[in-house]
Amino acid sequence: MMRCFLCLGSNVGRREDHIARALSLLNDRGLKIIRSSRLYETKPVEVNDEQENYLNMVVEGSFGGGAFDLLDICREVERSLGRTRPYRHAPRTMDIDILLIEGIEIMDEHLTVPHPLMEERAFVLYPLAEIAPDLILPSGRTASDVKNGMKDDEIVMILDR
Ligand code: ADP
Ligand code: MG
Repeated sequence: MMRCFLCLGSNVGRREDHIARALSLLNDRGLKIIRSSRLYETKPVEVNDEQENYLNMVVEGSFGGGAFDLLDICREVERSLGRTRPYRHAPRTMDIDILLIEGIEIMDEHLTVPHPLMEERAFVLYPLAEIAPDLILPSGRTASDVKNGMKDDEIVMILDR
């Protein structure tokens, strides 16, 4: 079993329902969820057009297959939730990014792990530091350390469970 961290995001339609449905579909496909963060409402970043805010969540999971199997199920769950890719950074019902897989580094055309932008994104670091503050990131720093050095102006609010 490999331990992994995923970031889920939705900024179209019933965002909370999409996240709940994605967690259930991931579970059906063999991802055992060990821990999940609260939902973070965040401002869209890296986009050029007007878009709704995101809801983001980071989960720690355990998975029996390989890294590319994990990518396949993430893409399949995105598709089940009606994800389309009309243009880069378009609004999406569901985005599932693989942040880290314990003990694994991959630099492939279709999969880069650890995720190259994870340490620059508040919408990743805030929920990640909530569930795994002492996790060592690729920079050698802990999740809470990196998060604490980050501005919080992209974080709109944290939804209580
Ligand atoms: P983004 O998440 O960058 O906004 P997409 O969700 O459309 O864009 O992903 C585009 C492609 O990124 C996916 O089809 C996948 O093959 C690739 N990819 C590379 N590394 C990863 C990763 N760590 N997690 C998820 N997808 C990845
Ligand atoms: Mg993605």
